[in-house]
Amino acid sequence: MPPTTPSPAAKKSKTTVNGNHQSGGNNGGGRGGGSGVGAAAMPKSAGQMRAMFEELGLPTDPNNLYGQTVSTMLHAAEVMDLPDYLRQILAQPKNEIMVHFPVRMDNGKTRLFKGYRVQHNNALGPYKGGLRFHHDVHLDDVKSLAFLMTMKCSLVGVPYGGGKGGIKVNPREHSKGEMERIVRRFTTAIAHNIGPDYDIPAPDVGSGSQHMAWIADTYSFLSEIGGNNPIAVITGKPVEYGGSLGREKATGQGVVDTLVEMLPELKLRPDRCTFSVLGFGNVGSWSGKIFQDKGAKMTAVADHTGFIANAKGIDAYDLSDYVAKTGGVKGYPKAGAITKDEFYQTKVDVFIPAALEQMIQEPEAEMLNCKVVAEGANAPTTPAGERILMERGIEVLPAILCNAGGVTVSYFEWVQNKTFQSWDLDYVDRELNKHMVKAAQKTRAARKQYSCDLRTAAYIAALQRLQQAYEVRGIFP
Ligand code: NAD
Repeated sequence: MPPTTPSPAAKKSKTTVNGNHQSGGNNGGGRGGGSGVGAAAMPKSAGQMRAMFEELGLPTDPNNLYGQTVSTMLHAAEVMDLPDYLRQILAQPKNEIMVHFPVRMDNGKTRLFKGYRVQHNNALGPYKGGLRFHHDVHLDDVKSLAFLMTMKCSLVGVPYGGGKGGIKVNPREHSKGEMERIVRRFTTAIAHNIGPDYDIPAPDVGSGSQHMAWIADTYSFLSEIGGNNPIAVITGKPVEYGGSLGREKATGQGVVDTLVEMLPELKLRPDRCTFSVLGFGNVGSWSGKIFQDKGAKMTAVADHTGFIANAKGIDAYDLSDYVAKTGGVKGYPKAGAITKDEFYQTKVDVFIPAALEQMIQEPEAEMLNCKVVAEGANAPTTPAGERILMERGIEVLPAILCNAGGVTVSYFEWVQNKTFQSWDLDYVDRELNKHMVKAAQKTRAARKQYSCDLRTAAYIAALQRLQQAYEVRGIFP
């Protein structure tokens, strides 16, 4: 298999830093039983795909998220006839970094934490992608999310590759002081593997602007590696410390920009839509607030604490304030508690999954009572779930299109840091909208050209840009 061209900066990722372990192989992981080779999204050339999975040591469990993600890409590659060497390069990340680091807890004891940074591809620019702080984060999840970042950045037209990272930690179980020490120590452990021109992390599930500020400050403290504005090493920072106006809401804004662009062809008007939201954190709450601002009515919401509904409408701003105080939607006084099944069965025009991966499996897909699924979360729909949605005529706006607003405004933040500028909110929103509309147009064009579903079309549009880059730059040496 031809190797990818190492960038000059890539050399440093081959070193061992503070005991970091770089896993060269593929840790299959897996989330449950089943057999077969990435069977869920198999295209017509199943034999060829099976051979590639075996050759690259990809996980063969059909429930494995990384296997599902790569299968989706390979299906699009098959439809557009992408050269084999590119399928192979993109099927595996360039670098998988795992670190273990000790942190002193408030009670004086020391605890060892595990962290990850996966750098999937940098053909289009520096690696870019969030950091997840979650007790159940695994290497395969991070690899999948890094892969999706490569696709997303390509589709939305920002000059970045794909990366992702995380710490195996439940932020809700730690004091602010403990989290600060965990985050700063993790930053130190990966400091030589990230950089403003090399790999630029951002927030994801469980992490936010305060964590980004600690990372930027820690990285700046290691001043010999930061360049002339080391805080450009990370985006999603507080506005007071190099962040961009509009970044916090950007992913939700992008979800709604995509809906506004795509709904008319589905004969739906945003101002007449009802919608439900799964996951009411950053992406879910901002999607809810901004869609509500367009006139849509939110009638059901779920998060890790419970499921609520009110047919007359739930005010997204008011619920957001409630969640900020209580930590979840459970007990919200202006809506009634419902069961999980009732939540999925709630009749709405648009359903916005904005929680974790693989939450829309076959049972949920069977229950959903909506016309459109707008994927705010990454990989919320399993291939088996998606097949059912398709059979039922439910349109899916794929995550690499729908939730690309976050990385787009992260790019704007990085440009502002690098050029010592500060953009106003209107400008940020306008530029974001341009990127989202263009990505939607590219997706529509690919769907027309290849007569395929929107997810395949979005992947094709992303792969086309990567293919063009690889064709002109070639493979080193
Ligand atoms: P967040 O931590 O702010 O919110 C996550 C939400 O999911 C919370 O409301 C939580 O209660 C809910 N949740 C967790 N487990 C759940 C469960 N089992 N059932 C129901 N709800 C559950 O995270 P976020 O930043 O909003 O990210 C959400 C999704 O969007 C993730 O897939 C993330 O990768 C993706 N995403 C985030 C960004 C961003 O800018 N933050 C950008 C692109 C994509």
